[in-house]
Amino acid sequence: MINEYEIYALKYAGPLKSCGARIMWNKDWDKVVSTNYYLWCIKGGNETIIVDTGVTLPFATKRKLPGYSSPTELLSRIDVKADEVRKIIITHLHLDHSNGVSLFPNATFYLQEAEYRFWVEDPIASRLPFNITLNESSNTYLKSLEGTDRLSLLQGDQKILPGIECLLAAGHTIANQAVAVNTNKGTAILGSDCGHFFRNYRENWPSIFITNLVEWMKSYDKLREKVSSMNLLFPGHDPIMTEDYPKIAEGVTRLV
Ligand SMILES: [Zn+2]
Repeated sequence: MINEYEIYALKYAGPLKSCGARIMWNKDWDKVVSTNYYLWCIKGGNETIIVDTGVTLPFATKRKLPGYSSPTELLSRIDVKADEVRKIIITHLHLDHSNGVSLFPNATFYLQEAEYRFWVEDPIASRLPFNITLNESSNTYLKSLEGTDRLSLLQGDQKILPGIECLLAAGHTIANQAVAVNTNKGTAILGSDCGHFFRNYRENWPSIFITNLVEWMKSYDKLREKVSSMNLLFPGHDPIMTEDYPKIAEGVTRLV
């Protein structure tokens, strides 16, 4: 019997105004769109798994992030204590997804080894344009965990728990990963920035920060193949995840 899980979206910042061409790459130059920033919580049986970490208050203050809520506070609204979280899946090492690793002092972080090696060891990562999204402090924090059981470096697709599988879905970054989750509606996927918006998946079109466009297109095929229905394939930054789903608490909605 495989666990069925629920998935919650926690909006930690937004709305932020953005040029449409950042969401639909090289299109929509004349459009202004609103984006939100999220982490996600998967709950089922006795398990709680967090996907991505949001960002810390000092980071949010420095960047003047509008609509900021601390990930710790958001999680407390659904009865999750950050210092009791044991499993965190990091989809990729862009700062908006991984800056908050230090908020979870007892967690094991699951990320793709290729993603980790690139951001921590490859000199290209420290150069423009990659360093726009690099976060030195959180990468240093993760590096301090290397060799301990708090850092789990994955090689490709890997099951973390019965009913929860990390899926290598490269393209946006060297080794971005998505998370397939068994739910009462079938297999749902948290795709993170494989698509910033639902539209990216529907129109088979990438968003920004393209590391490998060929891999990105293959990742779309892979995730589409795996998910039970397209409305269970969730994007990284779409305000729809806040607006169109049941509100559980301030800033928290249940996706499935
Ligand atoms: Zn992002």
